[in-house]
Amino acid sequence: MPSPAGGAGRYAPSPSGELHLGNLRTALLAWLFARTTGRRFVLRIDDLDRVRPGAAERQLDDLAAIGIDWDGPVLRQSGRLPAYATAIDELTDAGRTYECFCTRREIQQAATAPHAPMGAYPGTCRELTDAQRAARRAEGRSPALRLRAEVDDYEITDLCHGRYRGAVDDLVLRRGDGIPAYNLTVVIDDAAQGVDQVVRGDDLLASTPRQAYLGELLEIPAPTYAHVPLVLNGEGKRLAKRDGAVSLSDQRALGNTPEDVVSAIAGSLGYTARTTAELREVFDPARVPEKPWILEPIGLFQPDRCP
Ligand code: GLU
Repeated sequence: MPSPAGGAGRYAPSPSGELHLGNLRTALLAWLFARTTGRRFVLRIDDLDRVRPGAAERQLDDLAAIGIDWDGPVLRQSGRLPAYATAIDELTDAGRTYECFCTRREIQQAATAPHAPMGAYPGTCRELTDAQRAARRAEGRSPALRLRAEVDDYEITDLCHGRYRGAVDDLVLRRGDGIPAYNLTVVIDDAAQGVDQVVRGDDLLASTPRQAYLGELLEIPAPTYAHVPLVLNGEGKRLAKRDGAVSLSDQRALGNTPEDVVSAIAGSLGYTARTTAELREVFDPARVPEKPWILEPIGLFQPDRCP
């Protein structure tokens, strides 16, 4: 794995609530991948959507409490609107965008049509005439802006999943409410922070070919990707707040320290360590478990249940 001078890994939480053990484990993995490959580690707060007041500050406190440190200022997406607008202008000037007036319902109906790739936008508004656009505006619809993609799929390479080819459709760049879309902002911000290694949960793997394709159009080289397994509850579903004592503050209330949490996460990765510094000494990026960590309600104390 390359460790280029100046490269960085990152963690980019959405400040919608407290980080749970799954988020902390992904953050720790991202930190370990970066720090053991000579990279900087940067943070970004994805605060264009789903913001709960005070959540970002608590998330940063929790990351620091388990021993994660970071370089430079924390980037907040809410302060980056001009950068997204510049990228959108660049794509629009190159003829690579179009306005889309479809409602969510219309898209769902079109996407269930035979032969439509799963979840892909079928291009309904791609060839609208000026008159048709004007008519839709007159109905009071405010358009989203979509990428005019020239491929149907795109291949990326992932440290955990190998070569992965996934769908690329005419993805949304700016939503109807004017907010830039995640698939755009992530590409622009990773580049702005010098990120060349993206470690995140494998629920985001399917979006990655879209992001890498968009990056290519914007002449942003693809980072190294590692989409790591999630933490699941006893029913095999993605861990959530309702699954019990899943946050650091819940664990503190039970008398467990951040070191206890780090050692449980280390155990789930196949290591014995009580601190992130100890874990860093032994961590091998080539040996990330392939399976999710199944966390029973009191899972912290049952490491023998981990795969
Ligand atoms: N903010 C996104 C999330 O919490 C993650 C973005 C990313 O890692 O690319 O799901």
